[in-house]
Order: sequence, then structure tokens, then C-alpha cells
Amino acid sequence: MATSNTSLEVRIRQFSHGVALHSDAVQIYAAVLRAVNAPLSVESLTLARPREGEVLVEMKASGVCHSDWHCVTGDSVIDLPAVLGHEGSGVVAELGPGVTGLAIGDHVALSWIPACGACRECERGSPNLCQTHLPNLWAGLMPDGTRRMVDASGKPVFHLAAISTWATHSIVPAFSCVKMPDVPFEISALIGCGVTTGVGAVLKKAKVAAGDTVAIFGGGGVGLSTVMGAVLAGASRIVVIDRNPDKDAMCRSFGATDVVITDDLTDAVSAIREATDGRGVDHVFDAVGLASIESVLLDCLAPAGTAVLVGIPSNGTAFEVDAAEFIRREKVLTGSIFGSADTARDFVDYAQRYLDGRLPIDRLVTERYRLDEINEACDAMLSGGVGRGVIVFD
Ligand SMILES: [Zn+2]
Ligand SMILES: [Zn+2]
Repeated sequence: MATSNTSLEVRIRQFSHGVALHSDAVQIYAAVLRAVNAPLSVESLTLARPREGEVLVEMKASGVCHSDWHCVTGDSVIDLPAVLGHEGSGVVAELGPGVTGLAIGDHVALSWIPACGACRECERGSPNLCQTHLPNLWAGLMPDGTRRMVDASGKPVFHLAAISTWATHSIVPAFSCVKMPDVPFEISALIGCGVTTGVGAVLKKAKVAAGDTVAIFGGGGVGLSTVMGAVLAGASRIVVIDRNPDKDAMCRSFGATDVVITDDLTDAVSAIREATDGRGVDHVFDAVGLASIESVLLDCLAPAGTAVLVGIPSNGTAFEVDAAEFIRREKVLTGSIFGSADTARDFVDYAQRYLDGRLPIDRLVTERYRLDEINEACDAMLSGGVGRGVIVFD
């Protein structure tokens, strides 16, 4: 037994350089949120070793997403202290008992909706709608209802979506791991949220067809991913609306045919209709998540058009629409969570399309940060900078 433990530690050290290991725990560094609207603090935490069906992942890259920021501001209410981050990729460093289909050293992207594989939603091919583990996840717990991180004072720390990617290492359920093709880690990290959310909303929810017209509110990471999806689908017209003039060139470089810089939504709707000879677009996406935008989506649509809510609004957000539009012009209003993805299949599919040169995900990455620069990374995202900032671990 002593021999196997020793060899295990040697193997882990190969993937966990610089991290002290104990028999039952790992010392890690993580960005901890201790209070709403407080700066994140990078701290040393003690992380328990993986249990049945779990994996220890050494993080390699993690994106910075607005959904993390909603936790910082309290728009998404979570228990604190917590380690945030939900857009990550890394290397399997240790397997818990009973894990199959993964091996030490595997490159994995992490899914923030762990699917049970057995419920009605999973069986019908919509694991993004699996509700089985959500109560524990929303409570900041692992699917088994426990926590695995402890701070220097011995206080337990909450998880985010059972993956907490703003950390050098994380304990994750094996079913949250998707083994990836040989792409850069920052590519697989972005596939773990923003890319899948945008591309999937186009391909899997709206099912945009070649020649369709598309409008997208928001030219950030998810908005640009929505543009990429529309290009992939063969959309004939792709109109992006954003308030930041710096986004113009970036949106066009991804394939937007029209970029409308305005914060006046009446002007935005007029511009969308003008771009489509007054008819309106076949599909409109809100990649921002504001009620003011959501309330004008139907006005942007052609008859039988589809509006898709993608950006997650603050809890309790409500908006009004003209109900007659659903009947007289058969418009559709729907939403898409996590790109309506079957992550086990779609993460790999999007990585393959990146390798084929059809999804230029690398061009989304405009800034790279170390973990101890996490607050700067959040500030840059909030200032409306172009593209996506990525935390890299090495
Ligand atoms: Zn996200
Ligand atoms: Zn399920």
C-alpha cells in the first residue's frame, strides 16, 4: 500500500509541479470571493483528494465570463467564501475510485452543467437541461452535497458549478470532464462556456439555415461566438449591435456584415430592419441579458422569426412584449442555456471545427493573465474590452 501511494504521488507530481501533496489533501492556490463586491483574493487552500466518481484536474486555462461577475456583484446569489470560475480546461492529475473513460494526463474541458445521464432531459438528448444536480450546485456544493476546499483558518469554501476553475487545481465530477482533441488549453477553456453558448444558440437552438438573416445584440465573447456560429451556418446577413465603437473592427473580422454602434434601441431596431429591406431578420439573439434589449427583440424579426435569449439576466428580470406578434406573425421567443449543448459531443465537435479552420476561437483571446491578476482581468472585461481574457496557469 505504501508503495502504491508513493508511486501515485510521483505520478501526481508530474502533473502538479510546485504543489505540496499530503496523503489526503492537496495545497492549491485559488481566487476566493469572500464578500459581495469585494476584490478576489488569491489564497492557499487545502483541497481534498478525489472521491468515488471524481477527478483531480490541474487547471491550465480559464476564461473570465460575465456569469462569474454576476456572483461578485450578488446578481447571482451564492454562498461565500467561494472559488469562482466556470470556463476551464486542464489535465487529469488523479482519478478517484470507479472512474472509467479517463486517464491521468488526459486533456479535459469542464462542463458547468453536470448531467446525470439518466433523467428525462438527458435521455431525450438535452443534458444541458438536466436538473438532477442543480440544487446542490446552486448551493455551492459538489453533486454529493459536500465541500472539498478549506481555507487557512479551517473554514470550508464553496464551489462554483462543481468545477471552480479559478484555481490551480479542482476536484470535479468525472461526468463534468470532456476529453478533448489536441487543441491549445485556452481554446478548450473557451469552448467550456462562451463559445459553446454562442455557437450552440445558432446551430442547435435557432437552427439557422444557409441564407438566413441574423442580428446579435452584444459583441463580447458570447456575441462574437454567436457571429462565428452564424458564419458557420451560412447566414447571408449578420448584424451586430454594440455600444462600444472599439468592437466594430473585431465584429467585422469574425464575419459580421453590418455593425451598428448605438445604445439607442429604437435606432438599433431601425438599423436591423433597414439592413433587411424592412422585413426584419429571421433570427435575433440577445447576448447581453438586459430586459431593455429583450423587450425589443420581437420588433427586429421577420414573420415566423425566432428570438433567442442567450445572455443571462439578473434574477427577477421581467419584460413586456406585444402578445399579438406571436399569433399574427407567428414569431417565436425562446432561450438557450449553455448553447443547448450535449457537451460530451459538442465540445469535441467545436474543437474539431477549430482545427479545421472553421471556428477561429483563437482570435477571441485578446488578453492573458496570471491567476494573481484576476482582479485586473475582471476590470478589463467590465470596461468593455474586446474579445476574451484568459487566465493561464503554468
Ligand atoms: Zn460563462
Ligand atoms: Zn439528467
